[in-house]
Amino acid sequence: MAAVYDVIIIGGGPAGSAAAVYAARKQLKTLLITESFGGQSIVSDDIQNWIGEPHISGFELAKKFEAHVRAYPEQVAIAMPERAVKVRAERCAIGEERMCDFEVDTDKGGAYVGKTVILVAGARRRKLGVAGEEKFEGKGVAYCSTCDAPLFSGKRVAVVGGGNAGLEAVQDLFPYASEVTIVEYGEALKGDTVTLEEIKKNPKLKEIALNAQTLEVMGDKTVSGLKYKDRKTGEEKLLEIDGVFVEIGSVSNSEMVKDLVALDKYGQVVIDSKHASTSHAGIFAAGDITDDPYKQNNISAGDAVKAALAAYAYLQKREKVSPAAA
Ligand SMILES: Cc1cc2nc3c(=O)[nH]c(=O)nc-3n(C[C@H](O)[C@H](O)[C@H](O)COP(=O)(O)OP(=O)(O)OC[C@H]3O[C@@H](n4cnc5c(N)ncnc54)[C@H](O)[C@@H]3O)c2cc1C
Repeated sequence: MAAVYDVIIIGGGPAGSAAAVYAARKQLKTLLITESFGGQSIVSDDIQNWIGEPHISGFELAKKFEAHVRAYPEQVAIAMPERAVKVRAERCAIGEERMCDFEVDTDKGGAYVGKTVILVAGARRRKLGVAGEEKFEGKGVAYCSTCDAPLFSGKRVAVVGGGNAGLEAVQDLFPYASEVTIVEYGEALKGDTVTLEEIKKNPKLKEIALNAQTLEVMGDKTVSGLKYKDRKTGEEKLLEIDGVFVEIGSVSNSEMVKDLVALDKYGQVVIDSKHASTSHAGIFAAGDITDDPYKQNNISAGDAVKAALAAYAYLQKREKVSPAAA
């Protein structure tokens, strides 16, 4: 039989790295499965709110996360680059709590066994799902203004999404783009008033299209237009643009546990934030994969510490209960 880990951590962002360090310091036999270290803000040139570092790039932070986790080679095994695709509960002992072993299948054919799992696989950008989006990804369609705004120097750009992420993308684009149009599905922009007022003063803001349902990204070799429907009049309109930034939120990377733990209507793992626990005993979660409303590096790391300590407490109890898998 394969080695049984005390804890399998899925994800190597701030949450996964923090969970691994704390699991190691509790002397837990730990496996960290991740595609990479660093998480979503790895693309950021200048992170200014990671406590203790007034300025650090996402890339530098990722290197620090990895070095910190690798400081515990005795306790933490790392499977990378590897993606967890399914978590299954097996050999469950029926008792006061349903204590099980968990099998984690990966895209590399790995089948790992753990007594607990910590879900810290974060989130990814939501896509529009319209014609042309996939075809022009990297050829005018972009999802990260922090990373890609400079590529749109002198270009006409649309930002789809008028929440805070959309407004930040507009601000990132102003120094480069020749003009920026905001395309918002709802009746009003939802971002901060202060940011919005600043944006409205910038002469590069060409238009704010409200009630606008994006229908298609158009082009030949690269993007040349965006078709949308005015949801009030039903009229279809065409914006002549060279690029589109999609800023319509993110999707939780929770697919691997969708049949195992409770998810909310957005697919986020529902947690009891006091104990970082999920609806299944022995599975804990933290960070952007969860329904916690605040998505930040420090929060992900802190909450993952809670998850590691809660997993440790659960393991102590599990040893006493002596379930089938212990
Ligand atoms: C462009 C950008 C800039 C940001 N800037 C800041 C900032 O300045 N300050 C701040 O506090 N927050 C910032 N954030 C938000 C912050 O990045 C997130 O809140 C934080 O990264 C969440 O951490 P996490 O560990 O929960 O998840 P993530 O960062 O999403 O990390 C998840 C990790 O899991 C891996 N993974 C995903 N699925 C699987 C799987 N199935 N199997 C194995 N591994 C998997 C991923 O590769 C990744 O390494 C920014 C976000 C973005 C998108």
